Amino acid sequence: MSVCPREVHEALKRDEPRFRALPHVGFQNDGLGGVLELRNCTCGSTLGAPKDQLDLADRLASAALALRAGELDLALREVGRSAELAERIRRHEADRIVDEKYEQELKQQENRRRARLGLVAV
Ligand SMILES: [Zn+2]
Repeated sequence: MSVCPREVHEALKRDEPRFRALPHVGFQNDGLGGVLELRNCTCGSTLGAPKDQLDLADRLASAALALRAGELDLALREVGRSAELAERIRRHEADRIVDEKYEQELKQQENRRRARLGLVAV
């Protein structure tokens, strides 16, 4: 069996209903305070997508369904949970940016140190 092109996997990871229809493998820490949901593609590859984003897509879809069915209380509950998830995703994104800046700063310090030692020309 051949492995799907990368674009196919990327599109699949953003398509919550299709992604969640794949066999569930487990969860994995993304190393940045978030959780990846792992599922097996039909080609045999294991794909990981951010769980919060999948949950958010699921909640919003449920809210839209409830709204169409006239279930306003249910729609409102799903919207409330969506807002909480969106806030978590935003915080995670902010933490990631802080981590990246910190890593850049460390790299710059290392480069300056190396430059002082005459290892690399700046
Ligand atoms: Zn695949």
